[in-house]
Amino acid sequence: MLAAEAASEAVQAGRAADELAAYPESFRASWLYDELHRARNFKPWMAKGLYTGSLMFGIDQIVLGGRAPWTLRHRHADHETLKKKTEVQPIEYPRPDGVISFDRNSSVYLSGTNHEENQPVHLTLKDATVPVKINLELYDAPEQRYCPAGVYEIVRDADGANPRLQINAQNCVHCKTCDIKDPTQNIVWVAPEGGGGPNYPNM
Ligand code: SF4
Repeated sequence: MLAAEAASEAVQAGRAADELAAYPESFRASWLYDELHRARNFKPWMAKGLYTGSLMFGIDQIVLGGRAPWTLRHRHADHETLKKKTEVQPIEYPRPDGVISFDRNSSVYLSGTNHEENQPVHLTLKDATVPVKINLELYDAPEQRYCPAGVYEIVRDADGANPRLQINAQNCVHCKTCDIKDPTQNIVWVAPEGGGGPNYPNM
């Protein structure tokens, strides 16, 4: 909303092509910034273990009210922490039972996600060879698992040869995980054309 308001003001003032400098300022002045700022140390503290994290974040929140004079930083970017497939055991998840667990396509359907068929694609690759040469080869194509909407699929010929990445961008629910988690930062997510994306009917 803040970005939309800044954009609307800029257009009405005849500044349709310049930078939305008002947006960062209005974000900093909003309740959202205040809320996020007070919770900023949660993940870095919890990365130090359940007991240390609970104790220190409790002090951070209860004693200091989220206004601690320090800001902790993560030591690694998220995408740098992914383990190679040779370092882990595959997890065999039970099939969704339709009661407390559900398949991804049903959940995407409930999100009401839609994008205009002819809008510019909002998910692109910097290098189209990386998904197979690096992601599949070294990490068993993690984008197939971390994407909650099944956007990324490794498809093959009938005989199992010629693996390639298929991007079902129409299903994207805009969580932006792929942009953050892709091990070589090869996936580029940009905001889709206005109005596209999830449309949860009860929110
Ligand atoms: S932003 Fe990326 S990870 Fe999230 S739903 Fe869209 S394609 Fe999947």
